[in-house]
Amino acid sequence: MNSEHAPHTRSCGACSLCCTVLRVDELKKLGGVSCKHQCEGGGCAIHETRPGICRAYKCLWLSGGLADDDRPDSLGAIVDILTVGAETRVSIQEATPNAFDSSPRLQEISAQYRDAMPVRVVEYGNFLDPDRPYRVLLGDGEEHRVRGEWTTVLRPGAEPERRRLSAFERLARRIAVWIRSRKISGMQRPDDGS
Ligand code: SF4
Ligand code: SF4
Repeated sequence: MNSEHAPHTRSCGACSLCCTVLRVDELKKLGGVSCKHQCEGGGCAIHETRPGICRAYKCLWLSGGLADDDRPDSLGAIVDILTVGAETRVSIQEATPNAFDSSPRLQEISAQYRDAMPVRVVEYGNFLDPDRPYRVLLGDGEEHRVRGEWTTVLRPGAEPERRRLSAFERLARRIAVWIRSRKISGMQRPDDGS
């Protein structure tokens, strides 16, 4: 049975992908690195006292979306529906290289949503890299491939179009990257026991 209507039957089981992919500020854990409390074979060594974000977080699969077989460790990516500012979008965070391109199921999920809302695929790679590429899949087959200040717009039957952020947007982005770098270097300072 497709358990889209029976989320109470689901549990994370051996999956602990979000413990690697997500950022946990309370633990100074960056996104994309394993948590020091992850147990071998799955599970959390501080389950009773884990941070609030760990208690609150449920990926789309655990929340009852997607099909039974779509647990993130099988898909190779975490799928969420997020509201960021005024925009609601599907987020696909790859946990393995080329997870999206090599998974017909992830592409099927994307096709199911992209006419209704943007689907953002964050590519596997160095999570600390501010230029880490991502793709935005839109309706009518349009796709934006973003790397740093540049976006390549792909449309079926049309030549690719390259766009650069405006001067103002570049400045805003550089400030955001600087702030993020400062935050990351603060998180990378020697552990204070937290
Ligand atoms: S990614 Fe989803 S299924 Fe996997 S451990 Fe996190 S919440 Fe559970
Ligand atoms: S504290 Fe536990 S639940 Fe939270 S990221 Fe680490 S291993 Fe996962």
